[in-house]
Amino acid sequence: MSRILEESYRAYEPRPFTADQRKDVTLLFGGVTWRAEKLLEGLFKSAGYNAQRLPDVTVEDLYLGRELADVGQCCPTAFTTGNLSSFLRNEAEAIGADEVAEKYVYVTAGACGACRFGQYHQSYELALKNLGLEAFRMFLVQQHEIDQSKGKDAGLQTDIHLLLSTALGMMAADAIQDLEYQLRPYELEQGATNRAAQKAVSEIYDAMLSRPKQMPKWGSVLWHSTTRRFLKAMRRARGHFEDIQLDRLRVKPMVKITGEFYLATAEGVQNYNMHKWLEGEGAEVQPAPMVVWFDYLMRYGGQKLKLGFGIKDKARQNYALLKLGRRFFRFKYDQMRRMLGGVPRPMPDQDKLRELAAPFFDNMINGGEGDLLIAKAIWAHTQRKAHMICELSPYGCLPNTMSIGAMAAVQGRYPDMLYAPIEVKGDSDVHALSRCQMVLADAKIRAQEEFESALAAAGLTADEARKRAKEHPKVNTPFWKVPHRGAVGTASNVVLELGNATL
Ligand code: SF4
Repeated sequence: MSRILEESYRAYEPRPFTADQRKDVTLLFGGVTWRAEKLLEGLFKSAGYNAQRLPDVTVEDLYLGRELADVGQCCPTAFTTGNLSSFLRNEAEAIGADEVAEKYVYVTAGACGACRFGQYHQSYELALKNLGLEAFRMFLVQQHEIDQSKGKDAGLQTDIHLLLSTALGMMAADAIQDLEYQLRPYELEQGATNRAAQKAVSEIYDAMLSRPKQMPKWGSVLWHSTTRRFLKAMRRARGHFEDIQLDRLRVKPMVKITGEFYLATAEGVQNYNMHKWLEGEGAEVQPAPMVVWFDYLMRYGGQKLKLGFGIKDKARQNYALLKLGRRFFRFKYDQMRRMLGGVPRPMPDQDKLRELAAPFFDNMINGGEGDLLIAKAIWAHTQRKAHMICELSPYGCLPNTMSIGAMAAVQGRYPDMLYAPIEVKGDSDVHALSRCQMVLADAKIRAQEEFESALAAAGLTADEARKRAKEHPKVNTPFWKVPHRGAVGTASNVVLELGNATL
């Protein structure tokens, strides 16, 4: 205790990782979807690094993270701390702690945020200390800085070239994921979509591997703006989905996933395998795309810059640049979507989202998802995008606790919103899933009622709709874009299209 009182705060500073050590060192990383991790691996390899994704997260990782770091931390910190610690501990048993400290470094995102995200590295540091691995090196890539290039002797160069390729990789991963989730619930051959997704991601991985290794700053900006390398890879990726046979007349409730970034994007034990479980229960799931989060960060950055107009130097200039950057970001994502027939959903308009959340949440409060969590729930409900919202909130997360509080007012305003807030602790799956199942039961009823209304509006019976779908086989092809004819569910919108009707 006396040691803690005597020591003043110091920020974490890793031992140097130099360029000449690069060939002997492996970068460890993780924390995003398998698609994004595969593309990051390709990206790091193309930049000349040895790279390895951490193993899939387990519940034991959660316990280990809690044991080695702070037991009161939010569960994403515990999962990621435990995941890294478990890997390093196993390696240390095999090759020794000194060798582990020389052979590996860990790269992760960081921030100076209002929530624990700004302190993850301290949890890692404490865990490493408790494992006797103080010499191990970790590097943070700040989420709010574009160019973080170090001197040429630095082992890890998180420069603009790496970050722009990362952005394109994340866009590709999101577009493929969204397509995948729109097809899998309707596939006739089980497993066909998953196989196609694996092959599609491999196409982008290959494109990533063969990107130029290094480029000067403005040369890189120009290259990323004009290259068709990733678009061509997306076109090849599309080919892997072409032959999937579908039955889009299966009536399914549409469930939108929202929540804290890590838990909402994870597809594993971190959130009780919620995506898979929902699909298994008969739902169509709308996953949470990473690009919407990046778009939010830029929107928030713009709000802050606006406050500095007339007070801070270059505030207007920087705002204009950021606005341009946001437009470009959207343009690039839309290009990727177009390569997949426009089936992956577009990003929602951030200004619209801000407007929707404004009566319930101050949009200058940051940390976690800020006003985004509330905004997305209202948007999905009022724009008829989902029958139900499943919100994945981490145990011990202050920003999400605030959002859930504000959601009480949202539900008062929209009493017919089907909303399932799930507090994720990692180890109470029966409780969480049964809670979700109760709301899902209502969503299923709503989807079925909507389907009956769609049949009535189209003047068809279910059998006639099936017959007509056979006469118009395009409605069951993977790259046919289901039109929004006023219904939420896919089957209902297909029926309305077949009967040329609207709800
Ligand atoms: S948003 Fe919540 S769960 Fe995520 S890092 Fe911050 S405190 Fe933790």
